[in-house]
Amino acid sequence: TLGKGPCKPSGTPGYGGLPCAMGPERQCSQQTCGQSLGSDAWHPRWTGRVSVPRGTRQSPINIQRRDSIYDPRLPPLKVAYTAASCQCLRNTGYLCQVDFDEAAEGSGISGGPLESHYRLKQFHFHWGSTDTQGSEHTVDHRAFAAELHLVHWDATRYPRYQEAVLGERGLAVTAVFLKPGAPHQALQQLVDVLPKIKHKDAQVALGPFDPSCLLPVCRDYWTYAGSLTTPPLAESVTWIIYQKPIEVAPSQLAAFRTLLFSAVGEEEVAMVDNFRGLQPLMNREVRASFQ
Ligand SMILES: [Zn+2]
Repeated sequence: TLGKGPCKPSGTPGYGGLPCAMGPERQCSQQTCGQSLGSDAWHPRWTGRVSVPRGTRQSPINIQRRDSIYDPRLPPLKVAYTAASCQCLRNTGYLCQVDFDEAAEGSGISGGPLESHYRLKQFHFHWGSTDTQGSEHTVDHRAFAAELHLVHWDATRYPRYQEAVLGERGLAVTAVFLKPGAPHQALQQLVDVLPKIKHKDAQVALGPFDPSCLLPVCRDYWTYAGSLTTPPLAESVTWIIYQKPIEVAPSQLAAFRTLLFSAVGEEEVAMVDNFRGLQPLMNREVRASFQ
C-alpha cells in the first residue's frame, strides 16, 4: 500500500526534530571528493580487475536535507511484489542477498521518478561493525546502522538484467535505513536463517517473502541519479531513498555481523563494514518527494 498524505514528524522517541541521532559524522575523504575517483573509491574486500570509471554520478552520496529540492511533481512510488518469486538467501562474500525470479513480471515498482515499471531482481544489506556506521548513504553526514537495497531493472527496455546493469537508466534501487530499536518481525524471518549462510557462497532456499514488509510506513523519499556501489559501479541507477528509517533490534543487527567474508577453510573474517565510501555529488541534485 502507498503512504497516504504527507508524513508528519513521528512521535518516536529520538526522532523528533533531529534528523538522525546516531553515529559520528562521516566526511567525504579528500580522494573521493576530488575530480577523479581515488583509491578510496575501492573497497578492500573487492577483488578482480574491474576498473573504476572516472564517474560523474557515483554512489553513495551524503544527502544534505537543506540542499535537497522539493519536487511537487514527484508522485508516490508504487510498490507491488510477488512473494512467491522469492528464491534464496545467499552470502556473496561481500554481503547477504535475497534473489528473486527475474522472470516474474509485475513484481516491482513504478511511479515516483520512474518512467516505466522496474522489476525486482534482488535485495541485500550493508552494515557496520557497530551501530554507529554501516549505511552507504548518509543524511546530513550521519550514518545509520545498516541500509537495505532493493534492486530493480527495466525489463521493458532490456531483455536481461545484465544488460540493464550497463544500460542508461537500466536500474532503480530503493534504499531503506535501519536503526536500532524495536525488533522487526519480518526481518526476523531472514535473521533466523543467517546461521545457514555463514560462509562465502553459502545459500539457502527461502519460502515466499514479500520485501514490502521491510519498507517504512512513511513513503517519503529522496531521488537522484547515481551508480551501483559495488563493481561494476555502473552509472545506470535511479536511486530512491526512503526518508524514514525502520527500527530493528540491536540483536538483529548483531546477527548480520556473525556472517563471514571468508569461504569454508579460509581464515575467518567477520562480514562487517561492507559499505562503499561517500562519493562526490558533483553536478547533481537530490530531489525530495516531501517538504
Ligand atoms: Zn547495495
